[in-house]
Order: sequence, then structure tokens, then C-alpha cells
Amino acid sequence: MADRSTLVIAHRGACGYLPEHTLEAKAYAHALGADYIEQDIVATRDDELIVMHDIHLDRVTNVADRFPDRSREDGRFYVRDFDLEEIKSLVAWERRRADGVAAVFPNRFPTGLGTFRVPTLREEIKFIQGLNRSTGREVGIYPEIKRPQWHRDEGLDISQQVVQLLDDLGYRTKNDPCFLQCFDAAEVRRIRQELGCQLKMVQLIGENTWGESPTDYDELIKPAALKELGAIVDGIGPSLGHLVTLSEIDGSPVSLGLVSAAHTVGLAVHAYTFRADQLAPGFDTMQQMVSWFIDELHLDGIFTDFPDQAIEAINS
Ligand code: CA
Repeated sequence: MADRSTLVIAHRGACGYLPEHTLEAKAYAHALGADYIEQDIVATRDDELIVMHDIHLDRVTNVADRFPDRSREDGRFYVRDFDLEEIKSLVAWERRRADGVAAVFPNRFPTGLGTFRVPTLREEIKFIQGLNRSTGREVGIYPEIKRPQWHRDEGLDISQQVVQLLDDLGYRTKNDPCFLQCFDAAEVRRIRQELGCQLKMVQLIGENTWGESPTDYDELIKPAALKELGAIVDGIGPSLGHLVTLSEIDGSPVSLGLVSAAHTVGLAVHAYTFRADQLAPGFDTMQQMVSWFIDELHLDGIFTDFPDQAIEAINS
């Protein structure tokens, strides 16, 4: 682990440079010096865990070309409707918009270029462990259980399966280089209390409008709820919008107080997402943005698509 107090977490890998959640993006994140590398986790039809941000395949793979008649009524192609072997036959590419053509981030790796594949969670963790061995650096993993209630409705206890796999691969206690994260607060509690998970855990904080989980985030970040959370998890993962607003006087960034409130109850704060090509309002450069959040708010960790730029800003 690098000798810095703020953790740099490679968000979906070094996805500012290579398509998200490909092993190539993870290798690059490792090489750029990230402390942790993130995995989002979704289950296939045959109950295999893969690393993918959405429960859908269509924005980041050629599934619509390869299996054109396999969408649901909403027109989307679900990971849960495909066996691992089928998903392994897909080409992964840089994220596209809903039109299936335009790139979400037009200046990143060209969408459609390359022969990237979708990794399983096991493959990816073994890959990072292999790099740790060959480089002598211990880079941690930062898995996120996606949509546990949705998976349960689909007949799978994804959390149980993830915790078991992490245990199999050597991640069991708070001393192991792993943070387990989830948006669903009821599930986070269940993972800790019923599944007996002893890993470091992070409660993600979203916006209620996203419909990501049944959790009421407006309630969850109030002082009493935060204090309760402090007894269950090690940290929270809010968006930058939960932490900062702009001054009505001069438009400069102003803290909303959530980081200090979390620190008061012993919670670390790892915030998302630091993007050089999509800066938060009120900031002109990645350097300035990272420095402000660390110097003014004392963030404990940052999720970033550009680990090298975050490290450079922290070190300067
Ligand atoms: Ca994530």
C-alpha cells in the first residue's frame, strides 16, 4: 500500500483510459498505483458472479448484435437471462448511451474498438492477486454487491454467494485488503449480522430518485442514523453531491458537513466519483478538486476513473 493517508480506489478499474470492468482496465489501475480496485457484481442465469456495473448488458457489450431476440419487454438485455458461457462470447466495449451508438465519455477509449471480455469475480480477484505477487505491491479489492433485492426476486441470494467467494479467496477479516460495499442499507445490516461478514464494509449513499435500493438516503445521513450505521460498517460512500454545494455569494465550493458528521461517529468517508473529464461544479481542474476534498473535507478515500491523476494531486 502506498504511503498516503487517502486511499485511491480505481472506480471500475482505470476506466478513464480503458473500458470499465475489463481486466485490461484493472491491470492499468494496478500499474498506475491504485490502492484498491473496484468490482461491481451481478449474477448470470447459471448463478455465476460476473464483474459488471449494471444488471443490463446492452450499454457495455455487443449483446444486442449477438443475441438480438433475447431482450425483455423493456428492450433491455439482462445479465440474469444469459449463462456465463454466452456472456463469455460477448465483446465488451467502452460504455455507450441509450441509443447504443454514442459513447458516454466521447474522449475516452474508442467505443467498439478492441476484443475485451467480461470477467467473472473469481477471475478478476485471482488476476489482481497474481499482479500483487508479480509486482510485490498489495492492492486491495473493493467489491460492490449490486441490487441484492432484485437478485433475490430473481431467486438468488447474491450476498451470501459473494461473501462465500471472498472467504474462499482469502478475504475474511478487517485486516484483509478488502472493502465490501452496497447501496442497500437493510442488506448491509444483514450481511454483517446474519451472514456474519467480518470484512471492512462501506454503506454507499445514493439519491432516493435513483431507485437503486429501498433505502431512504435522506434519513440515513441524519446524525442518529449515522451513529447507528457506525456500529455496523467502517465507512460510508457518498457521492460528491452529498458533500459539497456552491456558495450563493461567490460560487465557491462549500462543505455540507457530512464528512465531519461521519468522522464524529467513527465512520471513514470514501466519496465517488472523481473524473478528470467530468469535474464537480465549482472546480476547474482535477488537481484543484482532489486537493480541496482532501485538504478541506479530509476525505479518507476517493473513487476515481483516473487513479494516476488522483495520486499526483494527493502527492503534490
Ligand atoms: Ca460501484
